[in-house]
Amino acid sequence: DIFGKRCNSKGLDLTDPIAFAAMDAARAAFATHRWKAAPLGAMADDGAGDERPVLNPADHGDRVGNVVEAGKEQVSQALAAAKASDWPARPVAERAELLRRVADLYEANAAEFFALLAREAGKSWPDAVAELREAVDFLRYYADEAAKLTSAPRGPFACISPWNFPLAIFTGQIAAALAAGNPVLAKPAPQTPLVAYRAVQLMHEAGIPRDAAQLLTGGPNVGTSLTSEAAISGVAFTGSLPTARRIEQAMAENLAADAPLIAETGGLNAMIVDTTALTEQAVRDIVASAFQSAGQRCSALRILYVQEEAAERTVHMLKGAMDELRLGNPWRLSTDIGPIIDEAARGKILAYVAAREDKVIHRLVAPEAGTFVAPTVLRVAGIADIPEEIFGPVLHVASFKGEALAQVIAAINASGYGLTFGMHTRISSRVKQLAASVHAGNIYVNRNQIGAVVGSQPFGGEGLSGTGPKAGGPHYLPRFATGAAAPQRA
Ligand code: GLU
Repeated sequence: DIFGKRCNSKGLDLTDPIAFAAMDAARAAFATHRWKAAPLGAMADDGAGDERPVLNPADHGDRVGNVVEAGKEQVSQALAAAKASDWPARPVAERAELLRRVADLYEANAAEFFALLAREAGKSWPDAVAELREAVDFLRYYADEAAKLTSAPRGPFACISPWNFPLAIFTGQIAAALAAGNPVLAKPAPQTPLVAYRAVQLMHEAGIPRDAAQLLTGGPNVGTSLTSEAAISGVAFTGSLPTARRIEQAMAENLAADAPLIAETGGLNAMIVDTTALTEQAVRDIVASAFQSAGQRCSALRILYVQEEAAERTVHMLKGAMDELRLGNPWRLSTDIGPIIDEAARGKILAYVAAREDKVIHRLVAPEAGTFVAPTVLRVAGIADIPEEIFGPVLHVASFKGEALAQVIAAINASGYGLTFGMHTRISSRVKQLAASVHAGNIYVNRNQIGAVVGSQPFGGEGLSGTGPKAGGPHYLPRFATGAAAPQRA
């Protein structure tokens, strides 16, 4: 705490050679470790069933562990246990204290999490550090926010999370539901069950009852059984728009009418760079926004609009900066960009680019092993040329005439998405104009547009990008409780 105010997790300073060497050595103990994931909670029979291997996306010869998927029977058992849990009756202070203990255990197990995040999810060192910090921040932030709730728990919550933040978003959904007093049934993404399993083990170790935090490993059928159960009182979901739509449909047919869906989906995120931008700074932020995490963030920059007179120098410098990026195994500190999560995801990105070969203006070379995609820049006329969100390191670039700025804004808004938006400009009236007219949940000025920080930059979109309220902000928890007061604008 600084001056009695909550502060965020310190993380690990990767530029401090002594701190880094110690962590790297601790992580090395997990370099060939094999983890196991299985249904975990209060069901009668956890862990029986067929095992499936989980492979390192950067190196398919590296088997990170095995997963056993939950069957229908385990889903019903978990749900029955959740319904009978005394978690909603526990005092708020106790729930908050247990969440803080989980945060401490996450930090104490940082080396193992860094190993899992690299080997199971392909996370580079900076991404892994940021992810653990975010998970810890969610736990502590929602623990603090719980004390402000004036409403009651809803009941069992289904938390369905994505592989791109397999610890942070996984933990954030669960922490919010638990803080509000709801027992949780968590379904991790099928690509990343191992880190989720360790996380839930630590929740139990911290003292959260097994019937309040349950893990249901598996694919879409587990998600479908959960979202069709009338006993589910709400769903938190982060993932693709089509899946969100299917969940909404299933909930409408099977769940109580007041069961909330708190969904965070995708985006076709834009950045506008005008002639007053400092090119070096803009390029640094374009590279981070479009290519960090191999573009596998829903916040990532998908289309850059550069004002005509600045286009040539910006694209020239962008190509140069891209050429400096190192792709490779995220286990190495020197790696900037790791792999794409799996073969299916890679195939989709490559097919998209292959259909637009004539538009490629720059492309790096991808490593052979594992599922890598080379960062690629495509020239397009505008956002209307992008039929869907491509979840990878593909940046579209368009130029615009200064007098056509209003049309650019209209085109961005017409996409229907509204997650992140970035701008580089030194004209303060333009900052106001863009911030007021572009529909996006998170708007960033003269910086990159990824990596929202819990507590100070609540994250979430509007339109097709999500239902709100924003994660990591003051309006999130009330949605997990009943009789929530109408959210007020911050
Ligand atoms: N919160 C993350 C960010 O600001 C993105 C989350 C996501 O990709 O779902 O970069």
